[in-house]
Amino acid sequence: MKKDTLITVLILAGLVLGAILGQILHVNLAEGEALNPIWMDLGDIVLIRPLKLMVIPLVFLSVVVGVTSIGDPSKLGLVGGSTLVYYLSTMLLAVVLGTALVSTITPGDTLTPEQQLELRESGESEYQQQGKIQTASSDAEERGLGGAWFNILEQVIPTNFFSELVNGRTLGVIVFALLLGLALAACGPTGEPAVRVFESLFQGMMRLVLWILWLTPAGVFFLVTGTVGRIGFESLIGPLGGYMSTVLIGLGIHGLVVLPLILWILGRTNPYRFMFRMRKALLTAFGTDSSSATLPVTIETAIDEGGCSKRSSNFVLPLGATVNMDGTALYEAVAVVFLFQLYGIELEFAELMIVVITATLAAVGAAGIPSAGLITMVIVIGAVNTSLAGRGIEELPLSAVGVIYGVDRLLDMCRTVVNVWGDATGAKIITRLAPDPDPG
Ligand code: ASP
Repeated sequence: MKKDTLITVLILAGLVLGAILGQILHVNLAEGEALNPIWMDLGDIVLIRPLKLMVIPLVFLSVVVGVTSIGDPSKLGLVGGSTLVYYLSTMLLAVVLGTALVSTITPGDTLTPEQQLELRESGESEYQQQGKIQTASSDAEERGLGGAWFNILEQVIPTNFFSELVNGRTLGVIVFALLLGLALAACGPTGEPAVRVFESLFQGMMRLVLWILWLTPAGVFFLVTGTVGRIGFESLIGPLGGYMSTVLIGLGIHGLVVLPLILWILGRTNPYRFMFRMRKALLTAFGTDSSSATLPVTIETAIDEGGCSKRSSNFVLPLGATVNMDGTALYEAVAVVFLFQLYGIELEFAELMIVVITATLAAVGAAGIPSAGLITMVIVIGAVNTSLAGRGIEELPLSAVGVIYGVDRLLDMCRTVVNVWGDATGAKIITRLAPDPDPG
């Protein structure tokens, strides 16, 4: 068996075994008993931490190498501009799809009044218990929409490169790497030794990623066991089932129809074959729940198996893992509209438009880490509340987020797959604009 096939089989086995064991553990939990956190902790130690260790140096090296290999600033402008336009438009498409679906299926309206009340009460008490979520979401609410823009701007214009590195703020690292890459390319022969050092370090990092990939099956096993053990598959048929199905249907349509169609038209490539080739990255995204931690695997798979050029992948994928989140954007739209439905607050077309715009921004601002979307969703709720206040209508309490907190991780795994898939389609399409030079 080829190494690559073996690793895929092992990851799949990890996923399936984890799901089975998780469900067994879940049904054996006594009423009110919480699952032992050891499963998630093991997953963290075995896979997430080693992958995270790769992320920041890899983002830096990959962008410098990508930019210097493109070289010409006008070409880079074309590649960068097209990438951003592509990412923003696909995110908008995802949000519009999510908003249309949740408004048609109305998972919050179709519940009985008793179910609605029960969900609201249990959600609010869940919110009170989750100190971390409480602090993060009230911070996000306080900063509001203007603050969210400002936060992105501050990251784009950093003041201290090392503090960006230390704090893991990838956007600042990307910007600095981009500028350095441009400058090195402009230096001509004097810049070449540095470029060669970065290239060779980048190759070393890729080799490390290949080694770490062997940890994926075990890591995914622990993480899936922990998630399914805590939430259980029966949540899919509980009162939140309608909401969860709406998110999953939306992610399915976006990932399996919309993005493939775009890839087929713009990338002139067979989208499903490309999806199959990207399977290691997509499975890792599902298991780790983090597009940022998956980034090393995404870059390795896109270049070695997906047929994406290095020039495109090195630049487009780190940017994608930071700003492009189709799955998160779609999910935020569905979740927010669902919560308003659950609280019996009717949204008008103008408010749905606010959802579309702010959910896109909130997804750009979400970090590629577990549950980031759940926090930045507060920005969307805040913006809609402001519009409701103008009409003199009751607002949605922040604690409503607690309603969907309990089942979030399962949905997060699925939206992270769509996030990474969106990044990969971007790299494949941009490969047409920035192919690698012919080695011969
Ligand atoms: N977990 C997602 C990601 O890493 C972000 C989110 O939607 O919470 O891409």
